Amino acid sequence: QDPSRQKIVEAHELAIKFYHYLLNNTKQGDRAKQYLRERGMSDRLIDHFMIGFAPDEWDVLTRFLTGRGFDPALMEKGGLLSAKNDGSGYVDRFRGRIMFPVWDGNGKATAFAARIINDGSPKYLNSPETMLFTKSRTLYNLHHAKPAIRKSKQVVVFEGYMDVIKSWNAGVKNGVATMGTALTEEHCSILRRHAEEVLLCYDGDDAGQAAAYKSIPMLEAAGLKVEIAILPKGKDPDEYIGEYGPEAYMREIVNEPVSVTKFKLIYSRKNHILLKEEGRKNYLMEAVEIVAGLDSSTEREVYLKELSREFDISLDALKQDSHSIRMELQKKKPAGDNNDNSWNNGRNEKRR
Ligand code: ATP
Ligand code: MN
Ligand code: MN
Ligand code: MN
Repeated sequence: QDPSRQKIVEAHELAIKFYHYLLNNTKQGDRAKQYLRERGMSDRLIDHFMIGFAPDEWDVLTRFLTGRGFDPALMEKGGLLSAKNDGSGYVDRFRGRIMFPVWDGNGKATAFAARIINDGSPKYLNSPETMLFTKSRTLYNLHHAKPAIRKSKQVVVFEGYMDVIKSWNAGVKNGVATMGTALTEEHCSILRRHAEEVLLCYDGDDAGQAAAYKSIPMLEAAGLKVEIAILPKGKDPDEYIGEYGPEAYMREIVNEPVSVTKFKLIYSRKNHILLKEEGRKNYLMEAVEIVAGLDSSTEREVYLKELSREFDISLDALKQDSHSIRMELQKKKPAGDNNDNSWNNGRNEKRR
C-alpha cells in the first residue's frame, strides 16, 4: 500500500469530520445550515451523508492539516489544497462552500463535491482528478448504496447529489449519481458488477432527457436492463420531492417507470407537432421504427395496437411497415450477430 495514497485518504477522512464540525458549530456554518434547512435537509440526513462546510477563509484546512503533520505538497496533489500562484505556499481549495464528501466504491474518502450557498458560479466545484479520484469511474454514494443494490439487483442513477440524498430519505437506498459528468462506459461496467437493472432518474428538462437517451444504449451494451422514471417538465427529483412530498415521489415517479421503448416513443413524440398532419405522419413513422426494433412480437403488437388506436390507422398497415423495417434490419445485420440493443437484452444474458 502506497503510503502517500494512505495519507491522502487519511486527510480526506479528517477533513470530512472537520468540515462537518464547522457546519454544526460556527457562525459561518449557521448560514450554510440555514440554506440546507431551506432545502429540506434534516440533521439526520446531514449526518448520514456527513455534509460539511468550508468557511470563506484562505487557510483553515491548510493550517488544520499541516498542524497535524500532513505535507501540504502532498495535500495539493490529493486535491484538498491549492498552490499559491507565487509559489510561496498553499491555500484551501474549497472556500465558502457546502461540502459533500465522496467515497470510492471501497469506502475510501477520496474527494469532495462542493456547492456554493444560494446562487453563483460554478454551482458545484469538485475535487480535481488525482491519483485516487477519477470522475469517469466514480459514482457518488455507491459505497453506501451497495448493500441495497445487491439486494434489489437494481441501481437508480441520478444526475445530482441532492437528488441522491433526498431520494435516500424518501426510501431509495440504492441511488447513485455521476460526478457532474455524463455516464461513461466505465460507470456502466461498474454498475453491471453490482446490479442487473438500472432505473434512470434524470432531471425533467431537455438536458436530462437527452442525457437519458444517450445513456440507454451504453447501459444496455453493458448487459443491464434499463427503465426510465419520467419527471414532469422542468423538475428534478429533489424539486419534485420538495413540491409533492416523498410519498407521491415514490408512488408516481420511482414506482412508475417506463420501458426503454415507451421512453423512446415519448422522446420522439416531443419532437413532432402532432396537431399537424405532417407531424403526425413523421411521428408515426419514427414510432413504428422504434417498435420494429423489438425482439418480441407480443411487445411489438402491444405498441402497434396503441398507435393504431390513437392515430386511427389500421393495425395491418402498421404491422406491414414494421415488418419491412425488420427485413431491412436483418439485411444490415452481419450473420450471427445477436448484439442488438433491444430493451430486454441483458435480462436474458447470463451474469459473469
Ligand atoms: P442543485 O439541486 O444543488 O441546485 P442540481 O444537481 O439540480 O443542483 P443541475 O443543474 O441539475 O444541478 O446539474 C446536475 C449535476 O451536474 C449537478 O449535481 C452537478 O453534479 C453537475 N453540475 C451542475 N452545474 C455544475 C457546475 N457549474 N460545475 C460542475 N458541475 C456541475
Ligand atoms: Mn438539470
Ligand atoms: Mn438538477
Ligand atoms: Mn436540483
